[in-house]
Amino acid sequence: MSEYKDYMIRAVAADAQIRAFAITSRDLTEKARQAHNTSPIATAALGRAMSGALMMADMLKGPRDLLTIQIDGDGPMQGLVVTADNQGHVKGYVKNPHVILDPNAQGHLNVGGAIGQGTLTVIRDMNLKDPYIGQIPLVTGEIAEDLTAYYAQSEQIPSAVGLGVLMNKENTVRRAGGFVVQLMPFAEDEVISRLEENIRKISSVTSILEEESTPEHLLDVVLEGFKPEVTSREDVRFYCNCTKERFSRGLILLGTEELENIISEGKDIELRCQFCNSAYTFTTEEVKKLLPRTRVSEPEKEQ
Ligand code: ZN
Repeated sequence: MSEYKDYMIRAVAADAQIRAFAITSRDLTEKARQAHNTSPIATAALGRAMSGALMMADMLKGPRDLLTIQIDGDGPMQGLVVTADNQGHVKGYVKNPHVILDPNAQGHLNVGGAIGQGTLTVIRDMNLKDPYIGQIPLVTGEIAEDLTAYYAQSEQIPSAVGLGVLMNKENTVRRAGGFVVQLMPFAEDEVISRLEENIRKISSVTSILEEESTPEHLLDVVLEGFKPEVTSREDVRFYCNCTKERFSRGLILLGTEELENIISEGKDIELRCQFCNSAYTFTTEEVKKLLPRTRVSEPEKEQ
């Protein structure tokens, strides 16, 4: 099986009164699960959030623009952070990856219960002086409902968001994906009511993906009767841009004194990337080589 089979499409329908995004994200969700060794609930939360972030990042314009979804909750999972760019890359983590709860009343993974009450923050970094930040209280903590509410409250765009992750018995990811459908301001009543009717009929994203695991099929169901026209297609994957050099810059920022302390202890240090869980080991020799760079960067820091 090819590793990067996941992809995302963008479409318009009903004479551009509707714009839509759909994604399959099984492979990238499985990759994140393996990287973070997440429990099924944590995998579901992470997979849903990554699918949402990728589709939201696809709406950004610049090649270096980033979209981050941050959820902070008072439940046992505590929350999560995912960041996507508009090149189809996403990375992320949940704060407590090992959380386990009983299924909810519908017999599903209790993502809302694991997240609890709290806030959803969306950060769009478009390489301007300040990023655009929108925040709302969580509605259910199930993520799709929260993103729907975010669009309504924070951006005044009537939207429907559906996200789903289905696990295999042995706790690997079986299906993952989702959609975002948005109504343009000039949408006619007839279009709105038909779309609402379609959305009402959907029981779950993963049951649609079980029929056929493609973004096209998701949109055919969600936009039934509208004949959606696909306008773009992009491969998506779990990818982190961390490097040892980036972590060494972090060490340099600790300053001469702190690095000398580390060196005098004479032990290797291991730094771990939160987003992808990669570990970077620095030997005492390597830390010593960073010392001259702290002396170069310190006058800058004082400015
Ligand atoms: Zn990383």
